[in-house]
Amino acid sequence: MSKLPLLPINVAGQWLLGKGEEYESLYPATGEPVARLRAAGVQDVNEAVAGADHAFRTSGWAQMLPHVRAGVLHRVAALIRERSEELAQLQRQDNGKPISETRALVASAAGTFQFFAAALETLEGTITPSRGPYVTMSVHEPMGVVAAITPWNSPIASEAQKLAPALAAGNAVIVKPAEVTPLLALELAKICEAAGVPKGIVSVLPGKGSVIGDALTKHPLIKRVSFTGGTTTGKHIAHIAADKMMPVSLELGGKSATMVLEDADLDHAVNGVLYGIFSSSGESCIAGSRLFVARGIYDAFVARLAEAAKNLRVGDPASERTQMGPLITARHREGIERYVDLGVSEGGRIRTGGVRPQGGAFDKGYFYTPTILEGLTNSARITQEEIFGPVLVAMPFDTEDELIAQANDSIYALAAGVWSRDFKRAWRTGRAVQAGTVWINTYKQFSVSTPFGGWRDSGLGREKGREGIFQYMEQKSMYWGTNEEPIAWAN
Ligand code: NDP
Repeated sequence: MSKLPLLPINVAGQWLLGKGEEYESLYPATGEPVARLRAAGVQDVNEAVAGADHAFRTSGWAQMLPHVRAGVLHRVAALIRERSEELAQLQRQDNGKPISETRALVASAAGTFQFFAAALETLEGTITPSRGPYVTMSVHEPMGVVAAITPWNSPIASEAQKLAPALAAGNAVIVKPAEVTPLLALELAKICEAAGVPKGIVSVLPGKGSVIGDALTKHPLIKRVSFTGGTTTGKHIAHIAADKMMPVSLELGGKSATMVLEDADLDHAVNGVLYGIFSSSGESCIAGSRLFVARGIYDAFVARLAEAAKNLRVGDPASERTQMGPLITARHREGIERYVDLGVSEGGRIRTGGVRPQGGAFDKGYFYTPTILEGLTNSARITQEEIFGPVLVAMPFDTEDELIAQANDSIYALAAGVWSRDFKRAWRTGRAVQAGTVWINTYKQFSVSTPFGGWRDSGLGREKGREGIFQYMEQKSMYWGTNEEPIAWAN
């Protein structure tokens, strides 16, 4: 272990050393420690939930007038923006993404708080048509203590996506960030505190998911879990939730199809496909990892794509010019290498990449080259299983029917991309493909105002959008009697 000072975690508003094991967060570009902390233990979970429940009942947060609570969330957004460069640099060190990407994630986190502050301030109940001597209304109430469990690939943005609507709804929130990327969630807790969120309303418990995440999910006072992560973990959480009759939202894995039709604008399609799979080093749930290209343009398109992939700038995440940084951990890189070996053993040919870049800084960090495989079918394991790395499988297709059948032949259905100049074909293909999000002539664009989530094994529920706030509220119907006479039945 390094000599770095131990970082405190946040247990119901108290900054203290966790009761779990000591560990270090490493900078993936060098393997050197960025922070040392003691993880949360199960006792911290119990204390955080009890403290959050107390704060929910007594702090006045849930009862605060909407425009006043919205004001606090606007201050969170403003403080994120004030500290944006510092947060982006910290995020770069915590998970190794290039600085250009971490700046965008920080900006998106601020935008998310701003959006849900506005959603809260303008939130309306409804008066429903009365069918008797009463006025009927539908209103929403906060749930109590909710948990947000996030993965390592887009810290701060993932946490904001859950924390902002959950706080806007008036809840207390326990955040469980990924063990390997704890730092931004802890900073977010400090920012919430400085903005005026009452003590105990936000806790941040870094630590092992199998211990902390599990204990949180099972805790009887946790009224909802919002989870982003792998499908296996998501299903495990769904089982626990079923036993507790607890609602969950699950943002899970993907194996998204990108479809390049004969009439696509190839300059746009090459750039879009590259960005879709290789940005964030492919460590993205929406990575366009299955590429289908019309047979007539297949050879020319893949030749251009491979050349462009070879020229992507892989390297130092601190450099403004870097397009692809390292992978998150040495272990994750080994997993990706095993998948590429598997693809070759299944009959695939490596068109480009498939190796670790060598020399200098590359020898310390967990870098891997952008990789394209060909010669495989959609049923190969490497084409069906999520790799979560910079690995693309390219396949030709002949007819539109065959394309749609293959694109939909996946346990996942998170996202898809269509590249075509023919607006009718693009529309038809976009409607026929089964996915939570479809991009036409663009890819991996995101807006907090538009719902996001997956079908099938890619998840349950939706985040973002104005409706996102209702995920963290219980609906309540109210009947207000207006009879002049007592109810006749009792006479
Ligand atoms: P995991 O499912 O392993 O982990 C996600 C989070 O869950 C982490 O905080 C983890 O903790 C925690 N966790 C692990 N086990 C449990 C458990 N038993 N109970 C409760 N929580 C637990 O996923 P990865 O971190 O590997 O993230 C990559 C996955 O996330 C990919 O499959 C990707 O597709 C998906 N993802 C989905 C997105 C979407 O919006 N659909 C967006 C981003 C990623 P710990 O850190 O200790 O493992």
